[in-house]
Amino acid sequence: MAYRVTLIPGDGIGPEITEATVRVLEATGVVFEWERYDAGVDYMARTGDTTPLPQAVIDSIKRNKIALKGPLTTPIGTGFRSVNVAMRQELDLFACVRPCKLYPGIPSRFDKVDFVIFRENTEDTYAGLEFEKESEGVQVVRELVERLYNKKIKAGSAITLKPISESGSERIVRAAFEYAVANNRKKVTIVHKANIMKFTDGLFLEVGRRVAQDFPQIELEDLIVDNTCMQLVIRPETFDVIVTENLYGDILSDIGAGLIGGLGVAPGANIGSAATVYEPTHGSAPKYAGTNLANPLAQLLSASMMLKDLGETDAARRMEQAIIECLREKKVTPDLIANHVDKGLTTIEFADAIIEKLQRIPARA
Ligand code: NAD
Repeated sequence: MAYRVTLIPGDGIGPEITEATVRVLEATGVVFEWERYDAGVDYMARTGDTTPLPQAVIDSIKRNKIALKGPLTTPIGTGFRSVNVAMRQELDLFACVRPCKLYPGIPSRFDKVDFVIFRENTEDTYAGLEFEKESEGVQVVRELVERLYNKKIKAGSAITLKPISESGSERIVRAAFEYAVANNRKKVTIVHKANIMKFTDGLFLEVGRRVAQDFPQIELEDLIVDNTCMQLVIRPETFDVIVTENLYGDILSDIGAGLIGGLGVAPGANIGSAATVYEPTHGSAPKYAGTNLANPLAQLLSASMMLKDLGETDAARRMEQAIIECLREKKVTPDLIANHVDKGLTTIEFADAIIEKLQRIPARA
């Protein structure tokens, strides 16, 4: 049976890393029927379309319930907010799952890093509730604050709202605990700043503690976000599953990527009840666009998450083993070469090296 998957190569390095990934995926023997769609600012510039996210893309993902996506550039200085945020909100992809696993052969300061971040994707300061300086919205909020708190917000301020709901917190924390149980993880760390934001982060923590009671076999820990940043860079091996709000999760994901060798190797998935979009943590890396030197690993490992979720665990295992063999033999793109002497492979050469290994790894009956 062929899996029908929406494929969005995206902007910048997106098409190169996606082509490499599709090649490797097809070499596993699993059959895909790709529904390919262009989106993003490069697509707008090429076609003259006025939107970076055509409705047909959203409809395709809703139909197929599964998508593999490259990065999309966020247009600066136009009316568009982030295309990625818009897609997550449109499809209610409430959980951003980012595994941070250090593979052998990748240059890193650490020996063992293996934790997973669950980032809430739809709320918080990323909900898009912003008021521009001197707008009517700012005026209304200023008046409200003055009336309720007897405090003044400085003139000339812009304001962002931070909604955190009970239901939004419940579903992300539950997803993290369910993942922990299903993947034999031992501990979930709730990351927050409830000491300062008593109502929003306080609610997130309170709901998290309540949900944790349904999972007595999993250890619960809670940590303040600044402390978490420090702990991550001195003893990352103490983390197992992290669950947190949108903004903290965004920042912690990049710290996690740094711990495992950089953005070029950090995969991810955005999960909702109706669809899952697999995509790397990194952006469109404009400086590498068109050079064929971008690392396809983050996209490949996102695709490996997709294979596992589809139940194609043996294909995922073979692909991961082939990747590990290439990493050990330094058959990799330049970003993973620490000695600055070897030049490294191009994106497609790296993919072909993985395919060569893959073809020698027998499938399990
Ligand atoms: P970026 O992730 O594109 O790049 C950050 C750094 O990592 C750069 O030095 C880049 O060259 C390097 N890098 C990233 N991916 C790499 C890869 N595969 N191989 C080798 N090196 C890699 O972040 P940025 O420069 O802040 O963002 C560029 C654009 O991408 C922005 O418009 C941003 O909004 C967008 N973005 C999109 C997504 C997404 O689609 N999910 C995520 C993050 C950023």
